[in-house]
Amino acid sequence: MQEQANLLRSRGTRIGLVPTMGYLHEGHLSLVREAKKKADIIVMSIFVNPTQFGPNEDFKNYPRDFDRDAALAKTAGCDIIFYPDHCEVYPASYLTYVEVEKITRVLCGLSRPTHFRGVTTIVAKLFNIVKPHVAVFGQKDAQQVMVIKRMVTDLNYDIEIIIAPTIREKDGLAMSSRNSYLSPDQRAQAVVLYQSLMEANRMIDEGERDIGIIKNTMRAMIEQQPDAVIDYIEIVDTATLESQRKLTGEVLIALAVKIGKPRLIDNIIVHV
Ligand code: AMP
Repeated sequence: MQEQANLLRSRGTRIGLVPTMGYLHEGHLSLVREAKKKADIIVMSIFVNPTQFGPNEDFKNYPRDFDRDAALAKTAGCDIIFYPDHCEVYPASYLTYVEVEKITRVLCGLSRPTHFRGVTTIVAKLFNIVKPHVAVFGQKDAQQVMVIKRMVTDLNYDIEIIIAPTIREKDGLAMSSRNSYLSPDQRAQAVVLYQSLMEANRMIDEGERDIGIIKNTMRAMIEQQPDAVIDYIEIVDTATLESQRKLTGEVLIALAVKIGKPRLIDNIIVHV
């Protein structure tokens, strides 16, 4: 991959990278389309990255289907699929990790303390292997986006980071590879995540400024679903990811909820 990247760069070809863990859906494919606007050759990486999973998480069961992914990526306009082996990425001698501080300790970082260290490590490695000019990530993983942008600035990566909007099912559920774990009944329950975000948006639109009242309303809506177990509902400053005391400026409303087996996340940005 590095040789290929060097060759492309020597010819003045712009490389776009779309990192994924595979089991592709329309959300992933939208990132490829975004990348195509900014680069000549699109590389999609497909790698279920063990270092971003906690010990009791779903690394082993994470859905995988390379042949289907390859066909979908090709139709979306992807030129190269980078599909490395685990032992190639993390050989037995492996010792190095990249860690962004502070903003990785809140939201998802509370229940997944090693997750972002795994994300930044694999993304840093992918940047060094694929040598992209542009890399595209989804707003669906809002905290990940912030953490990667921080890493790119702090480590002086000469890479443009593009953030693509969250792609949703018709009823509003954010597309996710983990939605495949949901039973039909849980799939119906899962729509409450988006509905609660929309309700928060509506309340703010109508003048509500009490964060506690908004969060409680969201909590009550979600708790009506029998299989929902809330990890967090937070309303934070988009720049710092710190809880807001007063609702002003640009805020991120983010949540993580287990619906049966999968832990699903979603978010919206609201301008108050
Ligand atoms: P994943 O394979 O889940 O690690 O996701 C790979 C990339 O796709 C990340 O940048 C995600 O933010 C992005 N992504 C996942 N789901 C969506 C979605 N529904 N809409 C937009 N981007 C998404």
